[in-house]
Amino acid sequence: MTLLAPLDFAATKALFHLPEGVIYLDGNSLGPLPRATPARVADCVQAEWGDMLIGGWNKAGWMDQPARLGARIARLIGAEPEAVVLGDTLSIKIYQALAAALQLNPTRRVILSDSGNFPSDLYMAEGLVKMLGQGYSLRIVAPDDIADALDENVAVMMLTQVDYRTGRLHDMADLTRHAHQKGALTLWDLAHSAGALPIDLSGCGVDFAAGCTYKYLNGGPGAPAFIYVAPRHAAHVAPALSGWLGHAAPFDFSPTYQPGQGVSRLRVGTPAVLQMAALEAALDIWDRVDIAALRAASITLSEMFLTGVQDLCPELRLASPRAAAHRGSQVSFHHPQGYAIMQALIAKGVIGDFRAPDILRFGFTPLYIGADEVRGAVDILAQIMGDRSWDRPQFHRRAAVT
Ligand SMILES: *Cc1c(COP(=O)(O)O)cnc(C)c1O
Repeated sequence: MTLLAPLDFAATKALFHLPEGVIYLDGNSLGPLPRATPARVADCVQAEWGDMLIGGWNKAGWMDQPARLGARIARLIGAEPEAVVLGDTLSIKIYQALAAALQLNPTRRVILSDSGNFPSDLYMAEGLVKMLGQGYSLRIVAPDDIADALDENVAVMMLTQVDYRTGRLHDMADLTRHAHQKGALTLWDLAHSAGALPIDLSGCGVDFAAGCTYKYLNGGPGAPAFIYVAPRHAAHVAPALSGWLGHAAPFDFSPTYQPGQGVSRLRVGTPAVLQMAALEAALDIWDRVDIAALRAASITLSEMFLTGVQDLCPELRLASPRAAAHRGSQVSFHHPQGYAIMQALIAKGVIGDFRAPDILRFGFTPLYIGADEVRGAVDILAQIMGDRSWDRPQFHRRAAVT
């Protein structure tokens, strides 16, 4: 898909609903609501579900939605348009990709990952290893030790490109090349990359990738995940979760499983139509975003925040790489009272988040954050650190979601 006339970031802010008085630096965790989404979802509910009833599967194209949206996401991640499909959650897609990669590299038994990976990815690998038995294992090393840990036992290198806590960015091209030289396949988690920075899955020769659409991509809470399988592998994948919608002919209702064409075999069950309608509205914006320009703007904003905080809040210790080229689109700081500081910030309208044990995390999303918001956030953070207003009892009480 080619880029439609690119949008200017000064204008895109008007395309999102942001509550009055809020500086939203958490679009890396849950992207805000595009203004067009409520009407698109209402239309899907009323005109499609309401009026078409079961006919919506054909007439409104619900059945093809996972592939159609996949082709639109493909442009954002440097993928072949037919190699991406939507559905389920990222944890499920990681499991499917990992199982497929192990099966394609059958003489090896090790899944290699790093300690910066998101726990759910590691848990899914752990569960798969337990279920497979047969000597499979998960090896976790420090992020900087991945290249050295690639040996002749590694079947799959499974990494999240941007560390969810620190924002550290792995070199996808270099590590993928390295893994291939050692005979390993690659699985990249793009949770904090898609919609944040340029990605070239096809150019890097990546084997498998997956990501979510509710973070930078603004699909809304519970939005479906996406999965990528390199076209050279797709026809050889034997799906571990062989659901009927990954079947070659679901409506033949055959009692035996026949995998569908290409990546469509990694569909499982009925798609989340309403969630996909919400995502469609967000992709109407993303279709017009120049990712290289987005990355440049995100670096400008992150640098501004980082230097501002370093100047005014010496108690906060940088947790992210100092060089912009080694960071995703977030900046994080350590502080032993990080949780309370973040609560005090949120009470003043600056929304970031906290990640245990001591990380304050701020995401920079040029579609709706500009220099004024960054300056405002730095000022408020400096004020809270200066007057220690974070040290009030109400800011120390922990909620379930941080
Ligand atoms: C957010 C995130 C997930 C979440 O997975 P879900 O199944 O969608 O809840 C998984 N992996 C990474 C790296 C993430 O950042």
